[in-house]
Amino acid sequence: MAQKTIRHPKVTFLPHSDTQFELQHISQKAKEFSYCPYSQLRVGSALLTEDEKIFTGCNIENACFYLGLCAERTAINKAVSDGYTKFKAIAVSSDLEEQVIPPCGACRQVIREFGDIPVFMTRMDGSYTRMTVEELLPLSWNAEYLKKNE
Ligand SMILES: [Zn+2]
Repeated sequence: MAQKTIRHPKVTFLPHSDTQFELQHISQKAKEFSYCPYSQLRVGSALLTEDEKIFTGCNIENACFYLGLCAERTAINKAVSDGYTKFKAIAVSSDLEEQVIPPCGACRQVIREFGDIPVFMTRMDGSYTRMTVEELLPLSWNAEYLKKNE
């Protein structure tokens, strides 16, 4: 059986580096509303839409642990529920000082649903690691697989 070629949407780069730093800064501020009584790990996220609107998210834990929601998916759910589905980038930050906080597998898949965008994983001091969703989740499942064979 021939391997089907999967096309990924092109990575959209940010127009101004100031926007990137603002996005990272806002993701740090978004931690303020984190609800994390169990892990004590505050996580914030900021999602940049195609028309430069920013949606924030924080982690929201639950006593029924698997019902908790990550900051990235909170931001995406807020944006999509307001009618936004085209994104340029997402930033995520936590209170970890020595390391960046990478999106979990579920968040990688949810971000991937909306394209191969840059993910800025930020440390407390503002330094960051930038990776695309394709780098974070290679050979990811996406809508292309659901198209009928042509
Ligand atoms: Zn997650």
